[in-house]
Parts: sequence; structure tokens; C-alpha cells
Amino acid sequence: MNIGVLAIQGSVSEHLSALKQCGVQACEVRDRKSLSEVSGLIIPGGESTTIGKLLKLYGLDVAIIERVAGGMPVYGTCAGAIVLSKKTTGKKPNIVQLLDIDTARNAYGRQIESFSTQISAPTLSRKPIPAVFIRAPKIIRVGKNVEILARFHNEPVFVREKNILASTFHPELTNDLSVHRYFIAACARR
Ligand code: GLN
Repeated sequence: MNIGVLAIQGSVSEHLSALKQCGVQACEVRDRKSLSEVSGLIIPGGESTTIGKLLKLYGLDVAIIERVAGGMPVYGTCAGAIVLSKKTTGKKPNIVQLLDIDTARNAYGRQIESFSTQISAPTLSRKPIPAVFIRAPKIIRVGKNVEILARFHNEPVFVREKNILASTFHPELTNDLSVHRYFIAACARR
């Protein structure tokens, strides 16, 4: 199984490294051809405005929508979650609108208000998992078919709707692999 990480901007190498530590093949995705060869795709954190613009420029927005409609699992981290959401507040990045949630960008404050914490995610792990929030968005609406996998201060921070997964935190910046393992399991079930 080969899992792709969208490699146009953001924390790409950290996701590739986490996937490889889980024992799967992982590759960068930058164009339609590499997208067509993967069994799942991670859209990393970074800057959603930039990621959205480049997705459109490379024609990857439409290609991602088609593959996800065909069942390919996708996981958006932080800016990736914004890109996947139905609606977002603030300066509007181009979004693919696949996941029935709304997000509010930079909702915890500025870069300096970034933090790392532990969250409980019982579906993934019995122990709390570490989570790094960097100028993170908040999920401000969750559609009725969206399952909440983890909360922080009672607000959803990790959600799933069918083959679409999104977290407002960065698991790839911690040593814990449970979020990546969960995503890999979803890719393997296909
Ligand atoms: N603040 C960024 C945005 O709105 C997201 C930050 C991140 O991905 N860590 O796009």
C-alpha cells in the first residue's frame, strides 16, 4: 500500500516519516499522476490559502474530489482540515468542500498562542494522545453524519465522515503514531 502526502506546502516530510514509521510506503503527491497511484492522501497543515490556490492551479482540487467520491480515504491536518471543510471563516482559501463541517481559521489566536497538549481519543487509543495546535482552526459546525473522534475543551478537534478524516491538530509533530495508524487502517479496508 502506498499513501500519498500532498506536497505543495506545509508539514510534508513529517507526515511521510510518520507513515514510514508505521511500515507503509509513502510518497509525495504533486500532480494528477501521483495522485492516481496512491491508496490514500494526507493534506498536511501549512497555510490553507496557499494550499488552496496551488491545488486549483495544478488541477488537483477536482482530481481529489473525484478520487474521494470514488472512496479514496483522505485525511486533512489543520490547514488540510480547512481545505476539506464545507465553509470557513476569514480570508477564504479555495476549499474542496468535501467534509460536512465549518471551520474558523486561527481561532485559538496568533502563532504565539500555539500550544501542545494531550487529548483523549478513545476510538484510537486507551491513553490520551499528544496533540500540537499551531495557529489552529476550530470546528464550529459538525454535520449530522460526522463522527467526533476527539475533543479538546469539549470542542471537536478530530472528526470523520465516511472516508474523510480531519484534525485541527498536528499528530505528525509528536512521537505518537495512533492517528496515522487509524488512517492507514481506513486505507487498508478499501
Ligand atoms: N493558520 C493556518 C490557516 O489558516 C493553519 C495552520 C496550520 O496548518 N498549522 O491556514
